[in-house]
Amino acid sequence: MRPQAPGHTDIVLIGGGHAHVHVLRSFGMRPEPGVRVTLITRDLQTPYSGMLPGVVAGLYSVEQAHIDLVRLAAATGTRLIHAEAVGLDRNAKRILLAGQAPVGYDLTSIDVGITPALDSIRGAATHAIAVKPIGSFLDKFNRLLVDCRHPSGPRRIAVIGGGAGGVELILSLCTRIRQEAGKAKQNPGDFSFLLVTDGEILRTHNACVRRTFRRVFESRGVALHENRPAVAVHEGAIELADGTSLDADLILVTTSAAPPAWFAQTGLALDAGGFLAVRATLQSENDADVFAAGDCAAITGNPREKAGVFAVRAGPPLSDNLRRRAAGRSLKDWRPQRRHLALISTGERYAIASRGWFKAEGRWVWILKDWIDRRWMRMYQEPERMSGAADDGGGRH
Ligand SMILES: Cc1cc2nc3c(=O)[nH]c(=O)nc-3n(C[C@H](O)[C@H](O)[C@H](O)COP(=O)(O)OP(=O)(O)OC[C@H]3O[C@@H](n4cnc5c(N)ncnc54)[C@H](O)[C@@H]3O)c2cc1C
Repeated sequence: MRPQAPGHTDIVLIGGGHAHVHVLRSFGMRPEPGVRVTLITRDLQTPYSGMLPGVVAGLYSVEQAHIDLVRLAAATGTRLIHAEAVGLDRNAKRILLAGQAPVGYDLTSIDVGITPALDSIRGAATHAIAVKPIGSFLDKFNRLLVDCRHPSGPRRIAVIGGGAGGVELILSLCTRIRQEAGKAKQNPGDFSFLLVTDGEILRTHNACVRRTFRRVFESRGVALHENRPAVAVHEGAIELADGTSLDADLILVTTSAAPPAWFAQTGLALDAGGFLAVRATLQSENDADVFAAGDCAAITGNPREKAGVFAVRAGPPLSDNLRRRAAGRSLKDWRPQRRHLALISTGERYAIASRGWFKAEGRWVWILKDWIDRRWMRMYQEPERMSGAADDGGGRH
């Protein structure tokens, strides 16, 4: 390793994603002698995916759904560098930054999420809004709300993508836009909503959960088009593979996600999609001093869907293995659960629980989700209180 000073180890975290906020907290609660932790982050406020649809629905404020990384870094004694990482010079053990001097590291960890990939749908880059990554979505959403208030603004709102993100998003948009229309003395009935997806909605969930959501769509008047792949987006319409089209003034895409372009030049092992290929220890397959977690990484032979829940759960094993590597101890394998309890909201204070074959629904599920999400956020939003808290990464979703 490249010593910062004799006996010192520089751990540099790239990106303030869901796994890294836990690493900050963990090292803040239990500093490792001789270890300095640095966070390089492009954004000073990092969003929590579990509460984002709630912000869209108007159930949470933007502040409630974001972690203030400046405050978290200050409370945990972390050095913060506000910059965008654009590359890794692994020979010199330096992280390359946009417009700033490179930063040296002994150990580094990457948790930068994904970038939008609209190329798979023709015209989407021009005529549609990318929902991922979530960090830049809220600004687009605020502009969208302003546009909808305009008399000649969009009235037919569409989401392409039937995963949990897409389903929660269209239902949340429906709630919020109709609510705002009412406040602005517009007719909420002038707005229509649709979701189109290539297969069934919520493919990774059980049939009962899918049936329940179909019922919710119907009761809310949201049109659902399943098994209808979108191939192109034009001004005012979505073109489908079967040659038909759906009219839409405002189109949001939640489907594809790509790895950041700079990964390709790092020489790090990548999976077939170009994401960082890591071992069960969360170390890169071909560089033991580079770790990665969250959406930007994939565990070889044990990949999981790109969901915040796995980024959250990677936090404790990641911080433990960074400590172990810094101390020269052997690392531990992490096997993320195959099944997890998903709590998917309907864009109101109502949610559906899904795990394996299990399904439950009700206002109480939303109350449970709200409690879990707030509890998780408190650990990072109120870091001053962390001394008494458990260092287990909390529960989620
Ligand atoms: C509408 C929507 C709803 C969703 N709802 C859910 C849900 O309910 N449950 C669930 O499990 N998942 C959900 N997801 C998925 C979830 O958002 C992601 O899986 C999750 O955010 C991934 O976390 P992460 O830590 O990998 O990255 P992110 O949360 O994207 O964090 C990456 C961080 O890295 C920073 N960064 C990025 N690039 C750089 C760089 N080059 N240099 C420095 N810093 C950088 C960013 O500023 C950001 O702070 C949803 C997604 C969407 C779009």
